[in-house]
Amino acid sequence: MDPTVIIAGGGPTGLMLACELALANVHAVVVEKLLDPSGESRGMGLHARSLETLDQRGLLERFGDDTPVWPRAHFALMWMDLSDFDTTFTYIVPQWRTEKILDERARELGVDLRRGEVVVAVDQDDDGVSVGVRNAAGEEYRLRGEYLVGADGGGSTVRKLAGFDFPGTDSTYHGVLGDIEEYDAVDGIETTLYPDKGMYAAIPLGPDVLRIMTTEFDAELPPDDQEVTLDELRASVKAITGEEPRVGKPRWLSRFGNASRQVTAYRRGRIFLAGDAAHVHYPMGGQGLNSGIQDAVNLGWKLAAEINGWGPPALLDSYHAERHPVAARVARNTEAQLALLHPVGKIGPLRDLFGELLQYKEVRRHLIEMVTGIAVAYDFEYPDRADGPHPLEGRRIPNATLATSDGERTVAETLRAGHGVLLDLSGGDAESVDVSNWAGRVDLVRARPVEEIDAAVALVRPDGYIAYAHGDGSDPEGLELALKTWFG
Ligand SMILES: Cc1cc2nc3c(=O)[nH]c(=O)nc-3n(C[C@H](O)[C@H](O)[C@H](O)COP(=O)(O)OP(=O)(O)OC[C@H]3O[C@@H](n4cnc5c(N)ncnc54)[C@H](O)[C@@H]3O)c2cc1C
Repeated sequence: MDPTVIIAGGGPTGLMLACELALANVHAVVVEKLLDPSGESRGMGLHARSLETLDQRGLLERFGDDTPVWPRAHFALMWMDLSDFDTTFTYIVPQWRTEKILDERARELGVDLRRGEVVVAVDQDDDGVSVGVRNAAGEEYRLRGEYLVGADGGGSTVRKLAGFDFPGTDSTYHGVLGDIEEYDAVDGIETTLYPDKGMYAAIPLGPDVLRIMTTEFDAELPPDDQEVTLDELRASVKAITGEEPRVGKPRWLSRFGNASRQVTAYRRGRIFLAGDAAHVHYPMGGQGLNSGIQDAVNLGWKLAAEINGWGPPALLDSYHAERHPVAARVARNTEAQLALLHPVGKIGPLRDLFGELLQYKEVRRHLIEMVTGIAVAYDFEYPDRADGPHPLEGRRIPNATLATSDGERTVAETLRAGHGVLLDLSGGDAESVDVSNWAGRVDLVRARPVEEIDAAVALVRPDGYIAYAHGDGSDPEGLELALKTWFG
């Protein structure tokens, strides 16, 4: 059977998207260049918003209770304590582990995962897409589908072949990283700024692996084809810290830079981009993988709605409208952080002042919610609506525990099927909360009012964002408009 959606790239973004589509009974094929899951770990941190999303799909428990958590977040290496706030601590998880969990879930859901195969050609016409794939034996074949999503990382072949514009800036800094098996013991996560030289970090990734990472300011990024060596890592550490590190057996070595680019449009006809294929920036604060997961859950249900025949006309285009500004903001906060790090002769006083501002709890809250993705809110409006917008609309739904007639359920548990959820928290006062016209798309959950959700009625999208809310539930027309806008 021909797939309906072809996904180029089985990294975290592509795998999460495949799971979302499969959950909505859409046939997806993932074409992934690597024969086996990478075993590498660029990303190491899963922030609060990603953890909420994974919980909403029942995947959080797969990470296990022994997953290390990190109760701090930083902005430009100025650290803030998460325990001052009611927020989930960051999970320290090597990226390969996140990919493995998503890979297993995708297979359980019946996704056709073709490892060791590469997307080499891309075409589209009015009826669908045609994708050239080279398999592990070097033979080429064509796949036909309704849509193609390029989730094939920063160097995206789909982006290049389909002619997406990808403006931005090239690298001016570069870093070297190594996952090392023989090293001098460190006490927790160590990150240090060496003024005018660079940054050095040592992060234990497990009982026997240490991530060593450097960033050298004003150093040119060597060409991609120049192999990274242990000596390069040693030299980089020495150039920054002045000390020769004791580093033994490397498990993985890599290089990264601070190029910052974003496509101008996330869609060209039947081709979409998601994750690093759509946006790249310096990995400051670990926001890239987290953004990719959010791209995937934003696009997944919309694409499925279109394919399943009930997607309202503007739904699919809301993917670009919602996600483009989010990645643009991540890139800007990354640039702002880099601007607070170098050159110290110029930015020293600004950095000191910023440090003073961080004494204020509200400033810390603002930055923490920004880097953990909690602050993301989508801007939409209902042109024909009588009442003004409710302040919760566009924001994420908090993971409150709901008292329902069937017992206690968290909000995350109500979203596991990947459907929309209409929360009736009015205690029976809300008018007309019937969703029978949207059966299979929206589930109704009645529960007692909860402090965390300041509304009597809240319509939650499958990606966990509030599409509509009302204080006392006396607006059946507004609710129906919202249901039609998002769920057909
Ligand atoms: C040093 C470093 C630390 C980081 N730390 C964090 C962190 O802590 N938290 C965080 O959120 N992010 C972090 N990031 C960023 C994060 O690693 C990326 O944002 C994330 O990997 C993006 O996921 P993706 O699935 O979009 O792309 P990728 O992970 O790049 O996956 C793309 C996949 O596509 C495949 N592919 C490529 N071309 C083709 C093709 N033509 N055909 C088929 N398959 C193809 C590749 O093999 C790959 O598996 C870090 C990055 C770096 C460099």
